[in-house]
Amino acid sequence: MAALRRLRQCHPTGIAISPFHTASRAFAKQHYKMLVVGGGSGGISMSARMKRMLGAENVAVVEPSEMHYYQPIWTLVGAGAKTLTSSGRSTASVMPSGVKWVKSKVQEINPDTNTVRTDDGNEISYEYLIVALGLQLHFEKIKGLPEGFEHPKIGSNYSVQTVEKTWKALQDFKEGNAVFTFPNTPVKCAGAPQKIMYLSDAFLRKTGKRAKANIIYNTSLPVLFGIKKYADSLWDIVKQRDLQVNLRQNLIEVRADKQEAVFENLDKPGETKVLEYEMLHVTPPMGPNLVVQGSPLADEAGWLDVNKDNLQHKRYPNVFGIGDCTNLPTAKTGAAVAAQTAILNSTISKVLKNEKPDKIYDGYTSCPLVTSYNTVILAEFDYNGQPLETFPINQAKERRTMYHMKADVMPHLYWHGLLRGLWGGPGPYRKLFHLGMK
Ligand SMILES: Cc1cc2nc3c(=O)[nH]c(=O)nc-3n(C[C@H](O)[C@H](O)[C@H](O)COP(=O)(O)OP(=O)(O)OC[C@H]3O[C@@H](n4cnc5c(N)ncnc54)[C@H](O)[C@@H]3O)c2cc1C
Repeated sequence: MAALRRLRQCHPTGIAISPFHTASRAFAKQHYKMLVVGGGSGGISMSARMKRMLGAENVAVVEPSEMHYYQPIWTLVGAGAKTLTSSGRSTASVMPSGVKWVKSKVQEINPDTNTVRTDDGNEISYEYLIVALGLQLHFEKIKGLPEGFEHPKIGSNYSVQTVEKTWKALQDFKEGNAVFTFPNTPVKCAGAPQKIMYLSDAFLRKTGKRAKANIIYNTSLPVLFGIKKYADSLWDIVKQRDLQVNLRQNLIEVRADKQEAVFENLDKPGETKVLEYEMLHVTPPMGPNLVVQGSPLADEAGWLDVNKDNLQHKRYPNVFGIGDCTNLPTAKTGAAVAAQTAILNSTISKVLKNEKPDKIYDGYTSCPLVTSYNTVILAEFDYNGQPLETFPINQAKERRTMYHMKADVMPHLYWHGLLRGLWGGPGPYRKLFHLGMK
């Protein structure tokens, strides 16, 4: 029950919030030139860049969590290829030195008064604000969850509390259906719901259980993947490996005591289907961060309403946004955050000089589609869904080198490059590898 209680206390990334922050709160200064709300991938990397631009004493980050996680590696944690411990470091260790860490939760943003209110009742004012609050997981929108996670045979790579349950369910698999889901909402890293399917297939083959398994991917989407070039390769793989893909199927209920999952057919309202499972991987519905949604900064759907070219807020010019909390019309990934940090850094430096931002974000995002324990298809694309590949090779092909990039190189780039404000995405390398042509 303790794990379940923690899951109920989850904030958007699924990271439990520690209640022990009083000392830091008591000393919180009340005004900052640059206030960053959210200390995840976008928040920490922008605070490192803002420290360089404005000096540490002028920057503060509001973030309640004691731990900072590199979420992309949870795909491999759920498949037993990495440990959960390797995915996390203390927030204190990633906070740029000298930058003020306000260990609280933002409760309200008031852009008309340039203030933010925290859950301990403090008010912090700012001259400039960067919103980096991520998105909200909604396990509770599926009937039977999150309490269903108390049962075995079910897991989710999407939260720190449930990712190891995926690995346990996979190891315990004997025979029957292994079911993987994709919800009827926008998600972060849209490839992750199916990456764990390919890894599970590989694991069951390795352990001699594959003949006794039906592997089923039930997705709400009308496609396997949004970008045709990569979807074509993935369709070849699912056919070769005998993986069953059912489109427009949305998980609405889990009866964990009976190991049953209920799906609705999105093309035939009211039609439902019950699937028995021996293993279930749930990708939860997701939505806007609730603080953003409840503020004047939101668009109609609740996402932070920013200019897609320069990440400046559309109505409040001293407010900027980055990452999963925004309405940028691109896939929500850490790779997108990296590219956005370089753009946002340039935008803010121009705004501070009363100049017009001139660097334009092309929507670059990337999804390393892990297709086994040693292969990856490295999908990279832009706002228009056009491939924007870094390497001068066909990245729609499964490659070992790309697996090493995902498993070994990218975590280093994250901890030592992105979070220190030194990595702004592979754009310059792409230009170099393509002799300036891309
Ligand atoms: C299973 C999985 C696999 C993934 N795979 C990949 C991948 O292969 N490649 C890739 O590029 N990306 C991947 N991602 C996506 C990537 O992790 C996210 O897109 C990225 O972390 C977004 O960064 P962010 O700063 O917008 O949000 P986050 O990193 O989620 O940070 C948001 C921060 O805001 C804080 N916060 C929330 N609410 C409040 C509040 N009220 N007050 C104060 N702080 C608050 C949170 O504590 C958190 O620290 C994956 C994600 C998951 C879960």
